[in-house]
Amino acid sequence: MTGVPPLELRGVSRTYGEGAAAVHALTDVDLTVSAGELVAVMGPSGSGKSTLLTIAGSLEEPTTGDVLIEGTPLSGLRRNDRARLRRRHIGYVFQDFNLLAGLTAVENITMPLELDGVRTRQARAAGLKALEDLGLADRADAFPDELSGGQRQRIALARALVGERRLLLADEPTGALDSHSGEGVMRLIRSACRSGAAAVLVTHDAQLASWADRVVFVRDGRVVDSTPPPPGPESLLPGATGREAR
Ligand code: ADP
Repeated sequence: MTGVPPLELRGVSRTYGEGAAAVHALTDVDLTVSAGELVAVMGPSGSGKSTLLTIAGSLEEPTTGDVLIEGTPLSGLRRNDRARLRRRHIGYVFQDFNLLAGLTAVENITMPLELDGVRTRQARAAGLKALEDLGLADRADAFPDELSGGQRQRIALARALVGERRLLLADEPTGALDSHSGEGVMRLIRSACRSGAAAVLVTHDAQLASWADRVVFVRDGRVVDSTPPPPGPESLLPGATGREAR
């Protein structure tokens, strides 16, 4: 894939605390995610996956190293510029959805646009379009507690992608869903990648990771391996050759 990658981590380390009590959450991590690419991040609990995601999303700063979003190094930006870049380019999906209970589905989706100064009417039109794409047009004015878990998660995805964001960061995005809804969410993420977004997905679920183009393993704060996704069960049949068999 050509062009500037939506995300690049260069020699990123993150230490919490100091001296003997210091925790090295990440050590010298290099990671590039190209446009259109879905990368899954796997690793044991406490290995640094969430730290990697929050640093990639510019919600936290690395102790050393740099993060480049669409080729722009975050270290060179002032706080306000960094916040603007984050709002415009990066979408997050968290396990617990983080929808605001007092806002309707469409208002939740349009909030980042309005924060960015887009006029209400224009933002609403974009929000309604996103809902339509997700097959939820008739739920635009429903409040989160009137929606199913799967519907809430699709709203959270729409909010992450509205405004043509180029980088989607997801932390166990299907964690609270049954496998059918979970698969729906993965289809949406894949379809965002087909439209040119880059996505990083933290998961402990090998089944979900098999949707990725690449799986990155994190152990003790280091990226230890980067492999193509595990082949599907068909690959065990005689004559099958790995990825083509999927
Ligand atoms: P994972 O997402 O893989 O479970 P984390 O990125 O949450 O791992 O954590 C990596 C390490 O950094 C752990 O040892 C964790 O305790 C530590 N850590 C994470 N955030 C903080 C923090 N805010 N303060 C101190 N230690 C932290």
